[in-house]
Amino acid sequence: MNNAEYVELAKKVLYGNYRPAPVAFVSGQGCVLVDADGKRYLDFAAGVAVCAVGHGHPDFTRAIVEQAARLVHVSNYYYNGPNVELASELVNKSGLSQAFFCNSGAEANEAMLKLARRHFYAQGQTDRRRIIAFHNAFHGRTMGALALTGTPKYREGFGEVGPVTHVSYGNFDEVSAAMGPDVAAIIVEVVQGEGGVVPAPAGFLEALRALCDRQGALLLVDEVQTGIGRLGRWFGYQGHVMPDAIALAKGLGGGMPIGAMLTSEKVAAALPPGTHGSTFGGNALACRAALEVMRIIERDRLCDAAKARGAYLSQKLRQIAEALPNVCECTRGEGLLQGLVLKPGMVARDVLGKVLDSGVLLTAAGERVLRFTPPLIVTEAEIDGATDVVKIVLQALDRR
Ligand SMILES: *Cc1c(COP(=O)(O)O)cnc(C)c1O
Repeated sequence: MNNAEYVELAKKVLYGNYRPAPVAFVSGQGCVLVDADGKRYLDFAAGVAVCAVGHGHPDFTRAIVEQAARLVHVSNYYYNGPNVELASELVNKSGLSQAFFCNSGAEANEAMLKLARRHFYAQGQTDRRRIIAFHNAFHGRTMGALALTGTPKYREGFGEVGPVTHVSYGNFDEVSAAMGPDVAAIIVEVVQGEGGVVPAPAGFLEALRALCDRQGALLLVDEVQTGIGRLGRWFGYQGHVMPDAIALAKGLGGGMPIGAMLTSEKVAAALPPGTHGSTFGGNALACRAALEVMRIIERDRLCDAAKARGAYLSQKLRQIAEALPNVCECTRGEGLLQGLVLKPGMVARDVLGKVLDSGVLLTAAGERVLRFTPPLIVTEAEIDGATDVVKIVLQALDRR
């Protein structure tokens, strides 16, 4: 089938909850994707910050193929090798003490939410249930994760699963005012991803940690988008705070579906046997894939690469913003999570289509932010290629 045939069939048989671009991809290598018509694209979306080691990485592919032939799944009634090895690797890298595996970012956040409430319940503090989250935060689409998500359009029509108080990201006074003895936890992203690539202001995470400590609340960090090397270090909180738990997903499996919650010693007893679980969670195939992603990142120093290429990408975006002040407002981000903020009134989604026609995949974050999340293996030449395309597209909009 070619692109048009796939799109025609998809419109009939796929549920209409997404609004995909009219392109069907059939293969990929490194940072390059190929569609069903044979056209090649530079992938600066990486499946929304997922494909950390790019497409078709030989070691990643071999690990999956060998593991698939050996053992895919046994359930959590037993241990399996890759699961234990991955937990050990994550514990070593994070400084946290235990891992729980699931299948997505939303599930990892659900686990943290249940962990926080159950932690206080176990101590007899049954009224300590409220969570503080942030406007424009994104924590996923399941009912619990949705309740935490701080963008009303995602929650509209689904009722409330509170109590959750949303306050302004980066505004410590608002957090402080919302804090109380009924607060179980604060949940925060190190850089708000979906919310528009907004890094936490200097000292903000540290202040949240201190506030939680004063009040006895837990600090939960959603690292689904920022974790596993993307910010130029294994986890975004590193160098800032020690969380009580974190959520991981996106980059962890390099494209294989896996999520994880990593927990501190303090909350180790919050979810005893029978209180939480997942049939697929921690299966051997997904864990072997994630283990290989971590090995490749370590061996090829991809955290350092994310930092260096991120600085290069950021500088290229700044040049575009300075050259085109009528269409660009500013740039922001950290490591290989970068945003080019368009002027008010511009719609990022409309720009994405034009950039895609010119052979580059990007995503939008919020209304008017172009988000750049290439694989961690991206080269400077590929950054040059993608930013040249973006510049040409924005120049054309400027002249209109
Ligand atoms: C993508 C994302 C999620 C949701 O992950 P899913 O795998 O889609 O459930 C949660 N939190 C953050 C910060 C994300 O970027």
